Amino acid sequence: MSVLPILLQGEPVLRQVAAPVGEITDSIRQLAADMTDTMYAAPGRGLAAPQVGHALRLFVIDAYWKDGVARAPRVMIDPEILWRSDDMATREEGCLSIPDLPVAVTRPATIAIAWTDLDGRRRQERVTGIEAVCVQHEQDHLDGILITDRLDPAARYRKADVLARLTGGSWTPGA
Ligand code: ZN
Repeated sequence: MSVLPILLQGEPVLRQVAAPVGEITDSIRQLAADMTDTMYAAPGRGLAAPQVGHALRLFVIDAYWKDGVARAPRVMIDPEILWRSDDMATREEGCLSIPDLPVAVTRPATIAIAWTDLDGRRRQERVTGIEAVCVQHEQDHLDGILITDRLDPAARYRKADVLARLTGGSWTPGA
């Protein structure tokens, strides 16, 4: 088990558009395993590769384990959102790269996503509820977008002092 340091907002890699993974190598499998350990240690419902310093299109999610459901980690490689519902939903989201700054974000309530799994198979599924929130949050990370970008102007003003303190660094779960 390897828990990785999680980068905080202000680190440049969190603002990059991540590159496609392509071939599933042993180092990608190792990264996915370490990211899964890190997500559970945090504890979080999702973690994207840029958050641990890799500008690659890869994230891990487990939308329901924090609600007492058995762990069911999913690794999504080179994910692509194929469809978004017109129906929108607003939820308060947290981000492991922005501790203690929950943001209410409005997103499509249901999406269809395609991704490559660790066996190299291209898969496709429709997801909704918290899982749709997690997938869209992590997909944003792959495009350099953070939840603080989604604050409305009034909230941005109220939280200006907190935002000004987000200047990078990292933290390690359990350390
Ligand atoms: Zn995040």
